[in-house]
Amino acid sequence: MHKRAARYIQFFGWAFIATIIVGLVIGELAWTLVVFLIACVLWSTRQSVRLHQWLYDKSADKSVPESYGLWGDLFEGLYHIQQQNQVTRNRLTGMIERVRTSTNALKDAVIMTNGAGQMDWWNDAAGQLFGFRDETDVAQLITNLVRDPDFKRYFNEKRYDDYLELNSSVDPNIVLRVHITLFGAEDRLIVAQDVTRIHHLEQMRKDFVSNVSHEMRTPLTVIHGYLETMSDAENIDEQWQRPIRTMSGQTQRLEVLVSDLLLLEKYETEDRYKMENLVDVQALLASVCKDAELFSADSQHTVTLVCESQANILGEENQLRSAFSNLVFNAVKYTPDEGQILVRWDQDRSGGHLTVKDNGCGIAPEHIPRLTERFYRADPSRHAKTGGSGLGLAIVKHVLINHSATLEVNSVPGQGSEFSCHFPTHKLSFPAAKSQVSAQI
Ligand code: ADP
Repeated sequence: MHKRAARYIQFFGWAFIATIIVGLVIGELAWTLVVFLIACVLWSTRQSVRLHQWLYDKSADKSVPESYGLWGDLFEGLYHIQQQNQVTRNRLTGMIERVRTSTNALKDAVIMTNGAGQMDWWNDAAGQLFGFRDETDVAQLITNLVRDPDFKRYFNEKRYDDYLELNSSVDPNIVLRVHITLFGAEDRLIVAQDVTRIHHLEQMRKDFVSNVSHEMRTPLTVIHGYLETMSDAENIDEQWQRPIRTMSGQTQRLEVLVSDLLLLEKYETEDRYKMENLVDVQALLASVCKDAELFSADSQHTVTLVCESQANILGEENQLRSAFSNLVFNAVKYTPDEGQILVRWDQDRSGGHLTVKDNGCGIAPEHIPRLTERFYRADPSRHAKTGGSGLGLAIVKHVLINHSATLEVNSVPGQGSEFSCHFPTHKLSFPAAKSQVSAQI
């Protein structure tokens, strides 16, 4: 027990004993006790009323009531607790104010929504970029305020690994990059950055590459056509035959380069949300493997296809064909004659997996992180023989991004390489039961 409370009880005990003594001395013990008890009740009632008044006093400068004994301690204790609460409340209010001021100073829009997708709070930049109004928009559904269908899909799908780009509803010339983070009970923190400048630069780069490629395409076709005709002609001088063949080979390479550049540009700009066709992976791989065997021709590679999953992919067939072809044709290109190439399609709980494995020259570990960069070659000397454009894996990367898939590369120099494409479960579709296919083409 607290020391002061014990002292108070002691004092009360002594007062009670003194009352009894006085009662005995004056010969009126019962009345003395009654007077003592009435005095105690009155005192306690008065202190309770003071406590009540003090607790519910709304004035800012209320001071703690004067009292002594247990009641004095009680007033003082409550006063201290109240003071501490006030200090904590001031500190938290200051902190909230600081967070609010700093987020308002941000150029990026920050929005918080609750589990139901209703607007809880947003900063000034969000108000400017999305046109939200404090008076009317609190507790409104964000999907009613940002009416872009892509945003609605992105917001509701809850797959926030990637970002979304959309135009500001206030000024359509402003391009915003939106990231969403889930926290708490399905609450969302939405951050939108103004990336108009980067978007313009990127667009200029794409337009430049696309225009140059388009402009080069026709002259190259004409030059290549004439060179072909000339190399077939019998009346051409012997000394010109070799240069004509070389020029024809080089123009062919340029044509491949131009068409790969155009393909890459197309895949970069295609709307990934519209790619939801059912692609029969088994049939697609069978046809790609057949083409790879034709491509191998005299090199006599063995291309083995193993399909352990019946899953189809929801996506765009042409894109998937060019990605899978690039991987399988690379395996042929970078594997010596009579090499083994294994193409496998399987699935587990994490999704569908396409693996292309070869026992070719392999890739040194330092090159692996950069393989999907445009024109990056692990071994430029080797490239001269294979005649690739250096864009194949960049195309693969873009196709996989469009299908929410990822690329994994494992390789041991001198022993071979394994390229794996991992498709998430939501990109797979399962047909009615179909027998397992395992074939050697
Ligand atoms: P390229 O047209 O040069 O083949 P890619 O983008 O398809 O361009 O490939 C990039 C580089 O990755 C290639 O130049 C090659 O060095 C390396 N590479 C790709 N696939 C393989 C493979 N299966 N085995 C060994 N190296 C490979």
